Amino acid sequence: MKVAINSGAFLKFYNNDMIEAMNAFKAAGFDAMDFSIMTVAGRPEWDEDHYEDSAKRLREHAEKIGLPITQTHSGGDGNRSLKISALCGAEQCVIHPRILQPHLGREEINFQKNMEFYSPFAETALAVGCKVGVENMFKWEWEHEIIQHSSCSRPEEFCRYIDALEEKFPGAFTAVLDVGHVHVVQVDPADCIRKLGKRLSGLHIHDNCGYNDHHAIPGVCKAGINFPAMMQALKEIDFKGDFTLEVSHPNQAPALIPATLEFIQTVSRHYANMMEVDKQ
Ligand SMILES: [Zn+2]
Repeated sequence: MKVAINSGAFLKFYNNDMIEAMNAFKAAGFDAMDFSIMTVAGRPEWDEDHYEDSAKRLREHAEKIGLPITQTHSGGDGNRSLKISALCGAEQCVIHPRILQPHLGREEINFQKNMEFYSPFAETALAVGCKVGVENMFKWEWEHEIIQHSSCSRPEEFCRYIDALEEKFPGAFTAVLDVGHVHVVQVDPADCIRKLGKRLSGLHIHDNCGYNDHHAIPGVCKAGINFPAMMQALKEIDFKGDFTLEVSHPNQAPALIPATLEFIQTVSRHYANMMEVDKQ
């Protein structure tokens, strides 16, 4: 199982230079990268006239240093993000479902609206050979200061979204489970993994204490995710994707970022290797 890191939170520590960030990820021992397109989306080198050259350059560097871009996170224009992702060599590009308020009691309406939202991406996804990753969300309710369910946050609803999209556009959509997002709405990630089964091809891995979306390193939170149980569920469904970190260190001292990346890699490798135990 490859250990991959999402580029989003760390780019700023490398002067927003993606090549420098990739070199740092490789030096820390990561096997692959999840390219956060949203962190570069507004820049001139990623506009309509320049994105092809930029994506090709990134892929060349990824191949040169042995850090394949296996997954991406859409930024702004979903169809352009899919094209960028395919040029980078990624198999799936996460495009969040819309978070519609309220969700509770309006699941059916929100489901229909999200089907309409996703439909225009199917043609591009199939044409370029990069699937749209549907991610489970949650919603902050500021008024009550609580986190509520939202699009795909319940396993049954997540499965329904994927099945409906697969029926309409075979091969264009897949599930990318954000394990922190399910934990924060009090859903067991292992249970969600078992219910998703073969629908699941990607992960966003991070931890939280169950009441906020901390995007912390696995294992640091009291009342955090049971990662061994989560790995057991991934093994049971014969998950073939990467262990993709989506952790955030907004206030870390820049001098500590290389050591932080190494620590994240070591922790992640420990859990990722649980997939291999007993397989021999
Ligand atoms: Zn995520």
